[in-house]
Amino acid sequence: MANIAFIGLGNMGAPMAINLAKAGHQVRAFDLSREAVAKVVAEGGSAATSAQEAVEGAEVVVSMLPASQHVEGLFLGHGGQAGLLQGMAKGALIIDSSTIAAATSQKVAKAAQALGIGFIDAPVSGGTGGAIAGSLTFMVGGSAADLERARPLLEKMGKNIFHAGDVGAGQTAKICNNMLLGILMVGTSEAIALGVANGLDPKVLSEIMRRSSGGNWALEVYNPFPGVQEASAATRGYTGGFGTDLMLKDLGLAQESAMTVKASTPLGGMARQLYAAHSIAGHGAEDFSSVIKMLQKKG
Ligand code: NAD
Repeated sequence: MANIAFIGLGNMGAPMAINLAKAGHQVRAFDLSREAVAKVVAEGGSAATSAQEAVEGAEVVVSMLPASQHVEGLFLGHGGQAGLLQGMAKGALIIDSSTIAAATSQKVAKAAQALGIGFIDAPVSGGTGGAIAGSLTFMVGGSAADLERARPLLEKMGKNIFHAGDVGAGQTAKICNNMLLGILMVGTSEAIALGVANGLDPKVLSEIMRRSSGGNWALEVYNPFPGVQEASAATRGYTGGFGTDLMLKDLGLAQESAMTVKASTPLGGMARQLYAAHSIAGHGAEDFSSVIKMLQKKG
């Protein structure tokens, strides 16, 4: 069984860490939030009081942090503070599952490799439901050898494991996927709002579209209209899912990437504008499916 440090225990990280602990691995958990650490300790992990303490002697370090600056700051250091790489054992492996810029993954990987530490970017898809069920999809960038070392752990957290290419390729696949998801969520919300404004029952309309040519993942498992699906974030008051500001970050990464290669992504650009407006209106911390609110008829 592996000695694992798990850093970042939010909506996704906590259930992923718990699945590793349940599989019998030694999981030393750290998050800036003590509450988040306590959740993982209650399910078999052990608490670390700092990220440095968590990685001491760890064979594998898994990180699940919000954005590029958090991952870069954690591993390479910031504000005069040394990064985690300095305290990690030679031969250890980093599995970074955060969704961040491919260039940041490459920068951290280069610094890690110079110290004899392996690195893969392994962002995920599947939402909090997939994290809890251990059925996530991993999109991996890195060497085949590092992926094979990580595979037994990834298999405890996910069902589908894809090798996208070299370091950074997992991130590129992930932002393509999330650009499509952002567009699909806006489209799905628009269609439901239109039907409801015309007097249709959102449950009936959703089921018709789910089984018709408009069917997509949002309609399958992530319906944006409250009450249509019992387990959806919408039904929980748009809490505990994938934050609007995280989707906005991913759509921004997609646009940056598009500019670099001169790709045309008009719908991705429009989706980014809509999520930015939604965030500015005060919905940044709510689940991203709350974007339906800006499309619904008031009163
Ligand atoms: P979250 O905001 O719920 O959790 C992030 C956690 O990181 C928080 O608990 C925070 O306290 C912690 N953190 C931040 N900086 C830290 C640091 N320096 N040291 C230790 N802990 C720190 O976010 P999430 O929804 O779990 O998402 C995490 C990543 O996964 C993001 O990159 C997101 O884009 C991606 N993602 C999320 C989902 C989803 O459905 N929520 C799905 C796929 C991918």
